[in-house]
Amino acid sequence: MRARFTLHPLSNHNKNYTSPILPSQNENNNGSSENTFPGKHTISSLIHWAVRLLQEHGIDSPSMDAEVILSHLLDCKRIDLYVHPDKPVEDIVIMRYKEAIGKRSHRVPLQYITNHAEFMSLDFYVDERVLIPRPETELLVEAVIKKVQTLNYDNEIVIVDIGVGSGNIAITLAKKTDKARIFAIDISPDALAVAKINAQRHDVLDKITFLCGDIFKPLEGYGIESKVNFIVSNPPYISGDEFGTLQQEVRDFEPYVALISGQDGLQMFKRIIANTNTWLKPGGYVIFEVGEKQARKVSRLFEDNGCFKKANFVKDYQHIHRIVIAQMEDGRG
Ligand code: GLN
Repeated sequence: MRARFTLHPLSNHNKNYTSPILPSQNENNNGSSENTFPGKHTISSLIHWAVRLLQEHGIDSPSMDAEVILSHLLDCKRIDLYVHPDKPVEDIVIMRYKEAIGKRSHRVPLQYITNHAEFMSLDFYVDERVLIPRPETELLVEAVIKKVQTLNYDNEIVIVDIGVGSGNIAITLAKKTDKARIFAIDISPDALAVAKINAQRHDVLDKITFLCGDIFKPLEGYGIESKVNFIVSNPPYISGDEFGTLQQEVRDFEPYVALISGQDGLQMFKRIIANTNTWLKPGGYVIFEVGEKQARKVSRLFEDNGCFKKANFVKDYQHIHRIVIAQMEDGRG
């Protein structure tokens, strides 16, 4: 069964990708013949070996993964591998390559092996402490930016990101919006450490206040009650029952706390919405990423709250309602 929360090796992942380095029959090799480590250590022989090994372990995109890992270790572009297939590879790189391919064959996500994930054309450091940013989450950031542009405020805009993870949402918003004061909250101190690395990398540390704690709790004392213009979140939204159906890469390696939210997957949405009345400015927005078949349920939670206008949705590339946008009524209080 294919899990709904799949992890693509790269945003531009193409399943039909075939390597220009390798003979095409290699892609169809079923791994029945012996795959020994090559005596000759050239780029093409190493990739050939790695592809066979990854195929034997049932990895979806063996050529791409083998090439991404080698180009990462050689600190070159993938295209450079095709230009110099016969170039000898140093022993230290060979050792690291063997280790990295071994990890990938045991389903460690490619992004945790290379410590890179691309999001909104920015490069993020990632490791096992944070969820790997997904391309769908870019739709959330785009939806926020669009709303910010329509507001045309003179004052600063207060944005709260709940479940900051790698910092992908907060950091891209800091880079792409002016006059934003961003509070980025996560319950995991480990995730916050990664987010800070990324904020420094992208030069926005001074625009973001990183806070550790449970949803809005750490905001207390900042004097921003009823002043928040945007509450944004890609919270954990997978149900406990679905956990077993997740891709092995996701289930075994990504942080459980970033994925699972109660038995119905809606726990975090309920908890965030229940607290919006304290923090959101009248007319302010809550913008969520949601799972497949959750958009209507989440919009009903906003209706039950009674202070929101009818929610809008943004569909993802698979036509799934992925983003829910809810605006609080203006005339409150
Ligand atoms: N904000 C991060 C992301 O969208 C982390 C989300 C999470 O940990 N659930 O990828």
